[in-house]
Amino acid sequence: MALTGLEIFKLLPKTNCKKCGMPTCLAFAMQLAQKRARLDACPDVSEEAKQTLAAASAPPIRLAKFGSADDQVQVGQETVMFRHEEKFYNPTVLAVTVSDKLAGPDLKKRVETINALQFERVGTKIGVKAVAVVNESGSAESFAAAAAAVKDSTSLAMILVSDAPEAMAAAAGKVAEAVPLLACATAGTAEAMAKIAKDNNCPLVAKAESVDALAELTEKIKASGVEDIVLNLEGTGLAEQLHGLSRIRALSLKKNFRPLGYPIVSFVTDGDADAQAATAISLICKYSSIVVVETVEPYALLPTLTAVMNVFTDPQKPVQVEPKVYTIGEPDADSPVMFTTNFSLTYYTVESDVEASRVPSYILVVDTEGTSVLTAYSGDKLNEKTVADAIAKQKVEELVKHRKLIIPGYVAVMSGKLEEATGWEIMVGPRESSMLPKYLQEVW
Ligand code: SF4
Repeated sequence: MALTGLEIFKLLPKTNCKKCGMPTCLAFAMQLAQKRARLDACPDVSEEAKQTLAAASAPPIRLAKFGSADDQVQVGQETVMFRHEEKFYNPTVLAVTVSDKLAGPDLKKRVETINALQFERVGTKIGVKAVAVVNESGSAESFAAAAAAVKDSTSLAMILVSDAPEAMAAAAGKVAEAVPLLACATAGTAEAMAKIAKDNNCPLVAKAESVDALAELTEKIKASGVEDIVLNLEGTGLAEQLHGLSRIRALSLKKNFRPLGYPIVSFVTDGDADAQAATAISLICKYSSIVVVETVEPYALLPTLTAVMNVFTDPQKPVQVEPKVYTIGEPDADSPVMFTTNFSLTYYTVESDVEASRVPSYILVVDTEGTSVLTAYSGDKLNEKTVADAIAKQKVEELVKHRKLIIPGYVAVMSGKLEEATGWEIMVGPRESSMLPKYLQEVW
C-alpha cells in the first residue's frame, strides 16, 4: 500500500539537514509521496526505513522481462485500469506458437514465417515480438531440440510452453542465454518449475483455473525464490476469463494485493485465424500483457497488432507526423500541392491515397497539434492563417510554378479566406481521401 507523506516522514531522520535539496524532512517526504523525489537523495536514511519505503513504493504490477539483447521485451508495471486515466506503459507482446512436433526444414520454415510478421502502420513498425515453443510431442528430447533450433533461427524473445518439469528443464538448459519465459507452473509442479526458473534465471508463468488459486500459487512460487512471475488464468470461457483478468487487475491496482501484482499471459489457440484475432483483441483490451496465438495469417495479425498500438497509445499525445512538405513520387514544378494536418492517421491515409493515384504530388502538412482536419478546423487550429504560415515557412512557392492549392473537401468553407490570405487559387478536393486518386487523375 502506498504510504502518505506523513507516514514517510516518520521513517526519515528528521534532522532537516537539507542534503536532499529540500528545506525540511517533511518537504522531502511530501515529494517522495508524490513520486517526485528518489529516496537515495537522502544519504542518512536508515536501512530499515529503506526497506519499508522500497516495499511500499514498489509498482503494484511487477515488471517482467524476457528475451535477450535488442529483442528483449518487457511487460507489466501498469498503473491504471483505463487508459484515459493516464496511459498504459508496456504494450502487449504478441507471440506465435511453434510445435515441437516440427523439426528440420518444417520448423525452420515456420520460424521464418513468424520472423517475417512485421508491419508498418502510420509510420510505426509493429510486429510479432515472441515465439512460443510448445511441447506438443510430450517428449523432453524433442522439446529441447525444437527450442534450440528456434533459438538458432530467430532473435525474437522465446516462451517455452510445457507442463512437464522434465521437458522444461531440458529445453531451458539449452536456451537459457536467450532468457525464455517458462510456461507454466501449476500447483502440482510449482516447486520443480521454480527450481528450473531459478537455475536458469528465467521468469516463470503461474497457471491456475481461478483467481484465488493463482494468488496462492504465486505465493508458493515466490517462497521458492522466484520473483519474476507472469500469471495465466486458464480453463474458462472467454467471458469468464475477461471477468477474472479484470478482477486481477483491480485487486492488484486498487487493493495493492501483491500475490496478483504480476503481468498476465493468455493463450489463444482455438478457432480459425479470424476467431483467434477476435479473442486476442478482447484479451489485449482486458488485460493481457502477452497473448500467444497459433495463426500466422498476416490479415489476422495486423488488426491484432493495430489493437495493441491503439490501446497503448498515450491518449493525451496524439500520434503526429512532422509538419513539412512530403513528396509523393518525383513531383516537379507543375505537380499538384495539397494540404492536410499532422495527425498521423490522417496524414498516412492521405499519403497512401495520393500514392495510389500515381500522380507525383506535394503534401503540405500543417501543424494542428496532431488533430484531424475537422477537429483542427473546429478548434481553430486549422485556419487561413495557419495554412498561409505553413506555405511561407515551408517555402512551397519555390517548389511549383503554379499557384493552385487543393484543400480537403471537409473544409471547403475556408476557400474564400484562404484565397485572400495566400493569393493562391483554391481547389476544393474530395471529402474522403479515398476519392483523391480519381480527383487527381481527372480534375487536376
Ligand atoms: Fe531530512 Fe534526509 Fe533531507 Fe536531511 S537529507 S533534510 S535528513 S530527508
